[in-house]
Amino acid sequence: MEDIAKKNGKDNGVTTKIFAMNTVMNMTIYGESIESAKKILAEAEQEIYQLEALFSATMKNSDISYINENAGKSPVKVSEQTITMIEKAKEIQKLTNGAFDITVSPVVKAWGFTTRNFRVPKKEEITKLISYINSDWITINKEEQTVFLEKPGMAIDLGGIAKGYTADYLSNWFEQKGVASGILSLGGNVIGIGLHNGNKWGVALQDPLNENASVGILKIGNQSVVTSGGYQRNFEKDGKIYHHIINPKTGYPAEEGLISVTIISSDGTKADGLSTALFVMGIEQAVDFWRQSNDFEAIFITEDRRVLATEGIADDFQFTGESQGYQYSTIFKK
Ligand code: ADP
Ligand code: MG
Repeated sequence: MEDIAKKNGKDNGVTTKIFAMNTVMNMTIYGESIESAKKILAEAEQEIYQLEALFSATMKNSDISYINENAGKSPVKVSEQTITMIEKAKEIQKLTNGAFDITVSPVVKAWGFTTRNFRVPKKEEITKLISYINSDWITINKEEQTVFLEKPGMAIDLGGIAKGYTADYLSNWFEQKGVASGILSLGGNVIGIGLHNGNKWGVALQDPLNENASVGILKIGNQSVVTSGGYQRNFEKDGKIYHHIINPKTGYPAEEGLISVTIISSDGTKADGLSTALFVMGIEQAVDFWRQSNDFEAIFITEDRRVLATEGIADDFQFTGESQGYQYSTIFKK
């Protein structure tokens, strides 16, 4: 093993980097021979492409495109995984009182985030499009394995949870392949598999205002760390920045004083949905929401440069953002 360690220059980890689901993905696994690690990683890449082919909102033959094309017309038969994802998305919509809603898609499209032909839609257009938003109008028939969007004009977009779901799916997949240690970073979604030489994984928390800096290090085990922020995908028009996290109630990019929300949880799919949802809620509502939950922790970064960690993660977070002008504090349950 030591030989392998030397050859690799990084304690026997083997890494692969790919571009999928519109983002850069890195996967590193440890403890395998180089040969078998490479083989496992190549198979994992194929797993990702297969999931992307189901969940993509832009690929013509994806399950999601198929569902959207048949909105208001007919139920369509899709894969079991697509059903699982949509069910999970509906659950998160209920839980977050609509702050997360995959039927926000027509609005996301209107802003150009799907095609990158960015534009600022007129008020009337937004008012019309938000009338198509409501996950209650997605009908799932589990026996027939079909999904139906009840209203013509409706559409769904799994962009807010697809990477989290993929991370969960892959971490199980790797475990089944006998991989006991690894770390996956799927564009803002990090998931730990086991431990790293008996220690927790260190995950850098990005400074949302500086691509090349972090504001601290999080320690995680078999968990997901998911960050959503307006800084990730946006465009500027007439001096104003418009980003890709939309408040489903207004149809406009959520501006509630947050610049990033990071969720730490053993449920990566939920963590992904919640990172989007809590960003939409804003700090006060998000903290109330956390106080009523017991399956995740969070770190919020506000526009006025405060870094706020919930008490359950505070011991595993080492803040380093002072020199960048951030101020740190802990949020307590009571
Ligand atoms: P990223 O995809 O950059 O990691 P998120 O996980 O926050 O960020 O997901 C944002 C994506 O989810 C958007 O690109 C859009 O497709 C979709 N989306 C935007 N707003 C919402 C929302 N309120 N609820 C559900 N999905 C959303
Ligand atoms: Mg998300």
